[in-house]
Amino acid sequence: MKKRLEEIKIEARRAIKAVTDETRLSRVKAKFVGRKGQITALLKQMRDVPDDEKPAFGQMINEVKDVIEAWIEARSGELREEKKKRRLTEERIDITIPGRRTPLGGGHPVTLMMEEVVRVFMNMGFEVAEGPEVELDYYNFEALNIPKDHPARDMQDTFYISDEVVLRTHTSPVQIRVMEKRKPPVKIIAPGKVYRCDSDVSHTPMFHQVEGLLVDSGVSFGDLKGVLREFVSGVFGRGVGVRFRPSFFPFTEPSAEVDIECVFCKGGGCRICKQTGWLEILGCGMVDPAVFESVNYDSEQYCGFAFGLGIERVAMLKYGVGDIRLFFENDVRFLRQFRGRT
Ligand SMILES: [Zn+2]
Repeated sequence: MKKRLEEIKIEARRAIKAVTDETRLSRVKAKFVGRKGQITALLKQMRDVPDDEKPAFGQMINEVKDVIEAWIEARSGELREEKKKRRLTEERIDITIPGRRTPLGGGHPVTLMMEEVVRVFMNMGFEVAEGPEVELDYYNFEALNIPKDHPARDMQDTFYISDEVVLRTHTSPVQIRVMEKRKPPVKIIAPGKVYRCDSDVSHTPMFHQVEGLLVDSGVSFGDLKGVLREFVSGVFGRGVGVRFRPSFFPFTEPSAEVDIECVFCKGGGCRICKQTGWLEILGCGMVDPAVFESVNYDSEQYCGFAFGLGIERVAMLKYGVGDIRLFFENDVRFLRQFRGRT
């Protein structure tokens, strides 16, 4: 039995030295000192040993067991070290490779243009008002002097939610909503999204408008011209020519279209202004007394003006964008060009 113990010890030593990874080492451990291992088997044979020799044998077996376990522990440490070294030499990290850059976002050109236009009017003392995009037919058309059979409805073909509810075709209903709640003086701009059944190089089904309304006693067309000239100077720079052409809108009388001197040819005539030297930028006029009637304003006492402009249109003119749809295609090569503008 003593001899058998020596054999086990030698065999274990050889086996432990030979293993090259932790999995094999744990197999060796099981084989010698595990519950079904050789040392345990030897302990079970103790019952054949005479009683007076039992303590000495037991001690010998335990000593061998302790030695084998220590060897296993030491080998395990060695294997871990080797593995660490292999990792450090084989899996090198190249710290000179540049890191991945997180792309930086920027404002959308329509948002930037909207903010710029709003800022110009706020500097003139206009306050910002908002209204719903899903609007009652009454506010979008009727209160603005556009009854159901009015031909102007054809110019603003819209999306109907029901017979009486539409997606607003302009920001003008905000005028009515504000005037219903307040008495003059009123001096507001209403920026926001509007919707029309329209889609080509200069129309999208959704676009952005800024509406303006000023009501007080003694307001003249001259005040309107002054405010709009200031707006053109604020967005396109001083010295850009402005002209007013007579036009028609159901809710203003008289009405005018406003043109600015072509910013690309400085009025000389080019492809963008169709050789006229002028670019149409917005519509405006003095508020029709019929509109005042629907909000119970005394049209003898008060008068006012209103104007509306398309933000995409202003951005197209300012930046020379030829197709309105570019604003909504979300091509970053296009959008990136506006980064950093205010
Ligand atoms: Zn031009």
